[in-house]
Formats: sequence, C-alpha cells, structure tokens
Amino acid sequence: METIFKRQQDFFNTNQTKNIEFRKKQLKKLKTVLLNNNSLLNEATFKDFKKSAFENYTTEISLLIHEIDLALSGLSSWSKRKKVATNFANFPAKSYIIPEPLGTVLVIGAWNYPIQLSIAPVIAAIAAGNTIVLKPSEIASHVSKALAKLINFNFEENYFHVVEGGIAETTELLHFKFDKIFFTGSSTVGKIVYQAAAKNLIPVTLELGGKSPTIVAKDANLKMAVKRIVWAKFLNAGQTCIAPDYIFVDESIEKHFLELLKLEIVKANYSIQNDNYVQIINDKNVQRLTRLINTDKVFFGGQVHEKERLIEPTVMHNCTFNDLVMQEEIFGPILPVIKYTNINEVIVKIKSLPKPLSCYVFTESNSVKNTVLNEISFGGGAVNDAIMHISNSNLPFGGVGNSGMGSYHSKYGFDTFSHYKSILDKPTWLEFNFKYSPYTNLKKKLIKLLLG
Ligand code: NAD
Repeated sequence: METIFKRQQDFFNTNQTKNIEFRKKQLKKLKTVLLNNNSLLNEATFKDFKKSAFENYTTEISLLIHEIDLALSGLSSWSKRKKVATNFANFPAKSYIIPEPLGTVLVIGAWNYPIQLSIAPVIAAIAAGNTIVLKPSEIASHVSKALAKLINFNFEENYFHVVEGGIAETTELLHFKFDKIFFTGSSTVGKIVYQAAAKNLIPVTLELGGKSPTIVAKDANLKMAVKRIVWAKFLNAGQTCIAPDYIFVDESIEKHFLELLKLEIVKANYSIQNDNYVQIINDKNVQRLTRLINTDKVFFGGQVHEKERLIEPTVMHNCTFNDLVMQEEIFGPILPVIKYTNINEVIVKIKSLPKPLSCYVFTESNSVKNTVLNEISFGGGAVNDAIMHISNSNLPFGGVGNSGMGSYHSKYGFDTFSHYKSILDKPTWLEFNFKYSPYTNLKKKLIKLLLG
C-alpha cells in the first residue's frame, strides 16, 4: 500500500493530472470500462445480493454514466480561473481564484450500492485532477473483486488503483497522509475515519446514514404517496441509505394508509417469490433485522427465509419510539408506522433526534410543507416523493450533523475534491505608502478616508 501511495504522490507531482484533456481522457476510459463490462458487474451484484440487472442499471450504472457525462461537459468551465473584483486597498491589481486538485485521495465505499458509491466519488476526484486509491466495501465481495479487476487492469497503479480489504486494510490506509478522505458508510465508522484523518489534518467528506423519517399528512395524495413510498422503501430490499426508515402518519388516515400500503406491496410484487427481489447482504444483517421485527406489531409480511437471506416486505403498525425497530437505522425491508395527531409533535420529535440524511413529506398543503422544510434540518429530501432527489445532479448530495458532512455529485463533487486557491496579482508600477512605517497621523487619516 505504501508503494502505491508513494507512486501516486510522485505521479501527482508530475502535474499530468492538472491537464484537462488528461482528465477527460480518464473519464471517457472509465465510461467505456463500465459500459463494456456491464455483464461482469451485473453478475457480481447478483452474486452479492441477487440484485437484478434492471436495478443494477437504474440504480448504479446509469447514474455513473450520467455523472461522467456531466463532468465531461462541465469540466472545462469548472476548472477555469474565476476572476473576482479587487478591493480598493489593493488597487491596482487583479484577483482570481484557481481551482486546484487536492492531490492523492482515498475513497472508501459502502456495500449497499457497491458500484455507484465507490465510483461516483472517483468520477468527481478524476474531474478535479486527483490521483485516487479506492477501497470498496469487502461486504459486497464480488463487486469489490470485479472493481479491482477492471480498474487495476485499465488504469495505471500510480494514478487510480483499487485496494481490496476490510477493517485491517482500511485501518492501514488511514495511516497514510492522503490529501482527502471521502468515506461512505455508517456514522460509527465515520467517527473512526474522522479521528484518523484528524491526526494528519486531512479534510474529509463523510457520507453517513441514520433514520430518515417520512411524514404523511392527512391532506396527502394518499394513492401516489403509497406508490412512491413502497418503491423507495423496498427497492434494494430497503438497503438504501436514503430509504424512508419509518413513517409518521396522521391518525385520521392511518387505517386507509395501511390498507393501501398492503395493496401496493402486492401490486408491485415485492415478495420472496419474485426473482427480482433483492437479498439481504449477509447472515449477520438477516439476524439483526429479524430481531427488529416485533411479531405482535406486524401488519403485513414478517416472513424471513433465513437460508435464502430473504425478508418479506414487512409493515409494522402501532409503533412507538420505544420499539426496538426505532432504536437503530433499519437498513432493510421493515417499515414501522407511527401515528400522530398534530404535525407539531412530529417536528418536535424529529428535531430531538440526530439530524437525518433524508426527510420526506407527503402533503398537498404549503403550510405543512413549509413547516417541515423550515424547521427540520436534514441532508436532503423530497416533497411528495422519496429517494429521487439523488437522481438530480443539480442538487448536492450529502448529510448534516450525524448523517455526514460535505456533499458531491456533478459540480459539487468537483468542489469537494478541489482547493480554491485565492490569488491577488499585483503590478509593480504603482505603490501607495499609507500602510508602511513610519506611521503618521496623516497616513492614518488617509486610510480612514479611503477605507472607512
Ligand atoms: P460501514 O461503516 O460498516 O463500512 C463502510 C466502509 O468502512 C467499508 O469499506 C468498510 O470496509 C470500512 N470499515 C468498516 N469498519 C471499519 C473500521 N473499524 N475501520 C475502518 N474502516 C472500516 O458501512 P456499511 O455497512 O458498508 O454501509 C451501511 C451504512 O452506510 C449505513 O449506515 C448507511 O446509511 C450508510 N450509507 C450512507 C450513504 C450515503 O451516501 N450517505 C450511502 C450508503 C450507505
């Protein structure tokens, strides 16, 4: 690892990555590698958790291709020097900002969208002109292997390299003085990464998780709300960082909402019998999720096929914050529903919890919408939809507080992997002497007159 790290630093110092054409060439190569090896990647995600080729394209590859295309078209303008006005005290001079790459960066991925969460930050890092070490999650082991094979075959080790491994290897990588660490994963491991980075004053972006609430108000378009919630929750068998973790529903519509949920789950065919229904990633998570299901509160579903690592879409009702399922991020196909009588109690409760990565509100009323948007702090979200905000690259994607720091996608990703260097560029043909010693009252008066 040390050799790779040093080679990457040396290569960065040749300045080749500062060339915009070089960066574009690498992005185009990455796009070709992803498209030409679609079937290898499909096979890997299928082996890891039975993810279908359809979902693999819609939730992983297509988003990456879109990010690459945006970077290719935006890069020339993003990387340009930006002229800014010069203040009076510095007259005559020019002032400008130079976007520059940070250097050699480390990207650590999570397993739930194992291709997208590893490669999307890499696209931003390439666009910004860095050299990259990528450590995908070892939990999605087939994808990790496939990425290592594809990347390490197609890219020079001194520019972009995949290091495979788990805790031991990541811990070793965290000893090196990278110029940036971009981490996607749990808040618990996020703290470990942050502490390791602090030892070397390494800037970090932390894309973390948490419990993302969804509020269904009494004036919501219930049919549409249910359709969108069911898709967002049971896609990838609930193993989505921005999936609705739990529902707050107005008590006056709770019964109707629950019935519609049941109908929609059946209609969408999210079931153990459906070959496109995604597996739980490993036995440990099957056991963890099984413990969270309180059979007394199951309204729909609840079946667990331990051997096949499949958990039926499960809706739990009459839930409270004392339930086990409300004590941790669920990250699986279990949807607890909590009744409320007044939107203000919902706001107060959510505000008392760690800031979520996402929050969704389903309502036709501007007042409910604006109350939620004004009062609750969260990474990002949607009104009358869930998850889909991630697909709009004009929106920065990231958490706040416990759900993370920093953001990426498109230009925001470029910014995340860039330093904005501020330059005052002054000619030598003119100099005012007010600021120089010896100090006099006249100089002071002039400074006051000119600068205030
Ligand atoms: P994780 O924190 O267990 O692992 C993430 C990465 O950290 C992996 O590459 C892993 O090898 C490494 N790692 C694990 N333990 C480590 C340790 N002790 N020291 C150093 N490195 C270590 O997370 P996960 O299980 O892969 O992903 C699930 C979590 O990630 C959920 O909380 C989810 O919400 C969150 N997540 C967030 C986003 C986002 O974009 N904000 C996206 C996906 C997942």
